[in-house]
Amino acid sequence: MSAPVSVTVRAAAKINLHLGVGAVRDDGFHPLATVYQAIGLYEDVTATRADTWSIHTIADAGIDPDGVPDDETNIAIRAGRALAEHHGLTGHAAHLEVHKGIPVAGGLAGGSADAAAALVALDRLWGLETSDDDLLAIAADLGSDVPFALLGGTAIGTGRGELVEPLENNADLWWLVVPSDIGLSTPQVYRKYDDLAPADAAGDAHPAELVAALASGDAGAVIGALRNDLTAPAYALRHDLAARVGELTGLLGSGIRVLLSGSGPTQLVPYADLERARLAAARLTEAGIAHWLAPAPVAGVHVVHYD
Ligand code: ATP
Repeated sequence: MSAPVSVTVRAAAKINLHLGVGAVRDDGFHPLATVYQAIGLYEDVTATRADTWSIHTIADAGIDPDGVPDDETNIAIRAGRALAEHHGLTGHAAHLEVHKGIPVAGGLAGGSADAAAALVALDRLWGLETSDDDLLAIAADLGSDVPFALLGGTAIGTGRGELVEPLENNADLWWLVVPSDIGLSTPQVYRKYDDLAPADAAGDAHPAELVAALASGDAGAVIGALRNDLTAPAYALRHDLAARVGELTGLLGSGIRVLLSGSGPTQLVPYADLERARLAAARLTEAGIAHWLAPAPVAGVHVVHYD
């Protein structure tokens, strides 16, 4: 096959089924024990041969791409440069076209998905055959959530979240994804976390109950074991999100769980049953609350088109 002119790669949004935060380290990072899951909202990144770096973002309906940089600070271009540098390539560049299906600054790691997709698209475009271990190492340098975007599925993350291992998961879930019009900054949520309470020294302990529930395939037990330590600081910063828990419970019934996605502001309601998830989605539509219904787990980065 001749060398491709362009390659399109898809990467999924992530949520955290468990986000346990430990005591802050000397370097300012909080050690995490997190369980990631890839859900069915996607970014498509198309890399095309070019002499200089450029990027253009278009977004699905309901997603505002205004906060996304269109210059070399965009994490997808930083990923491309890091890949070229890893191989000692100078003068390699590309045009990146990003099609966003993940809300910006929503706690769903849309930027990390772009970085992971760009790494794989450019690896294929340039015929580099980078090993998985090297891709994961480059990804970890770009950001804590980027290695998981490569992997997808359900995985445990330790360190800053960048050390990922796939988990056995026999429980399929449907997630109602409720975005917020206003983004929330991850560093600001961690600062509030530190203000509110001294970090729980055992916060980053292994989430044994959730890991066992995932392996058993008992979706109800998975839902019962969900935990996010950033909920209190995020809700302290954003009273509207705390209020929306009440609103969602009023609409969907007191039996639901409302999980904050990562550092927020997106909120998530899990269902083990598709019919019930569809009924709930219809109720949100009637109430005029924007949402998506996403299956999980879904695959990590994968090529969808070669030209
Ligand atoms: P995280 O939880 O990792 O902060 P997030 O889902 O909350 O992720 P992102 O959508 O990844 O947030 O973006 C966070 C910020 O990163 C944006 O506000 C934007 O300024 C910057 N950014 C850089 N590159 C991108 C990109 N390709 N897509 C989105 N945002 C980007």
